[in-house]
Amino acid sequence: MMTNTQPKSIIVIFGATGDLAKRKLFPSIFRLYKENKLSEDFAVVGVARRPWTNDELRSNVKKSVEKLQSENADVEKFASHFYYQPFDVTDVASYQQLNHLLSDLDKQYNVPGNRIFYLAMAPEFFGTIASNLKDEGLTSTEGWSRLVIEKPFGHNHPSAKQLNEQIRQAFNEDQIYRIDHYLGKEMVQNIEVIRFANALFEPMWNNQYISNIQITSSETLGVEDRGRYYESSGALRDMVQNHMLQMVALLAMEPPIKLTPEEIRSEKVKVLRALRKMDVTEVDDYFVRGQYGKGIVEEQEVQAYNEEQSVDPDSNTETFVSGKLMIDNFRWAGVPIYIRTGKRMKEKSTEIVVQFKDLPMNLYFNKGKNIHPNLLVIHIQPDEGITLHLNARKADSAATSTPIKLDYCNNCGDKMNTPEAYERLIYDCMRGDATNFTHWDEVSLSWEFVDTISQAWADKKADNFPNYESGSMGPKESDALLAKDGFHWWNISKNHTLED
Ligand code: NAP
Repeated sequence: MMTNTQPKSIIVIFGATGDLAKRKLFPSIFRLYKENKLSEDFAVVGVARRPWTNDELRSNVKKSVEKLQSENADVEKFASHFYYQPFDVTDVASYQQLNHLLSDLDKQYNVPGNRIFYLAMAPEFFGTIASNLKDEGLTSTEGWSRLVIEKPFGHNHPSAKQLNEQIRQAFNEDQIYRIDHYLGKEMVQNIEVIRFANALFEPMWNNQYISNIQITSSETLGVEDRGRYYESSGALRDMVQNHMLQMVALLAMEPPIKLTPEEIRSEKVKVLRALRKMDVTEVDDYFVRGQYGKGIVEEQEVQAYNEEQSVDPDSNTETFVSGKLMIDNFRWAGVPIYIRTGKRMKEKSTEIVVQFKDLPMNLYFNKGKNIHPNLLVIHIQPDEGITLHLNARKADSAATSTPIKLDYCNNCGDKMNTPEAYERLIYDCMRGDATNFTHWDEVSLSWEFVDTISQAWADKKADNFPNYESGSMGPKESDALLAKDGFHWWNISKNHTLED
């Protein structure tokens, strides 16, 4: 199944008039087309309520891929593969009509009944769509049917479980592709390779040599026009339950016995199971929440979260989370993994810092101070690369060392375009490779972990919001979280050097 490099399928996008389709899905499918990863035997059907025509959809598709055009890609020809059907997700007649269209397109494009149903719509419709697809026979074809689901997958463990049960009545687990777009990022996929393909790191990847790991995912944007959604979500549900915990799992998992989706998943699940559970009363010892106040970001004055559109002026929603995770297993006992994510922070970047333990004895000094610890930094975005921070001799001074860095950047110099996360994930789904999608077991364990924190924060209103200035790296309590363990956050500047 994974060997076909030009898989033939029809992609049905539910929510084709929406933002995700326009900004991510159409451009990603176009890039696959340009790279010759799609044969001419494919079609995309867009559905939504708006009474668009094929031509209207095609002109929107052309607009959204405008910037990606090149001589070797015929945009007109690409757009001619797109079809539109006005759709009411609750009306069975819409599904019957869609089924006819798909059968016709199967014949026209020589596709053997392979269908991807991509739900780029609000999650409240997922269950209805999944069961109607099955009941109206859209999944009963000669070929395969796969369901792609966007975040958020539920609001907490009970709602995620209910949603999963609904979907599972129509699709098997191996037909469900839950998107976590971080798993499509080049350097997130590279974590496993860095770890398991380097004799240098793997023997040291444990509590004997690593003192702590830090994962930061910061944004400069605020909530923009998504205040209503964000008020019911917050940074914990929006970022920690999915992306941050997925990165933790990849960093901490044991080497899988094979690189199959099942083996990798099983190792990730073990990490999530080993996360130290907290009681609601202990959450404050491990987690810090924040909400941005006004400030200056990228030289612009910006308003506070509680002044944003559709946001309660007395909002208890967190726009920042930092936390200390402990993985209670043999490899990681005693090593804190710190995570931090927030909006309206100083820089947009996602980075992982692995800090190695200090040497047992210091023979060299750096400006009169102890030498720097060795750090391995994995740059996830916007730069994609790794930097290894070492110490070397300072010229002409015998007992003095100076920090140096070995820097590898995948996309810095020539700005080589690595594939977009969505491009990779859509292609993986077409080929039936579920490695970089989240299994229900992972979703379930992540929600169980996060639910304790949300409960603690819902029970007790934050009395200090807003508590960090826009353009900063979060509230001071986040620094204190590490300081009490004798650590501090490593902030990495744009040229990959360490900020003091
Ligand atoms: P959006 O811009 O609001 O689009 C929603 C789509 O659903 C529109 O095409 C809308 O079209 C359609 N729709 C709404 N109600 C419908 C109904 N009753 N029947 C048929 N179609 C209906 O939302 P989005 O930003 O694209 O997000 C879509 C999903 O992706 C959400 O689950 C979101 O959480 C997730 N997501 C989005 C992003 C992003 O960057 N945008 C990132 C991660 C996850 P009509 O109005 O024409 O019906």
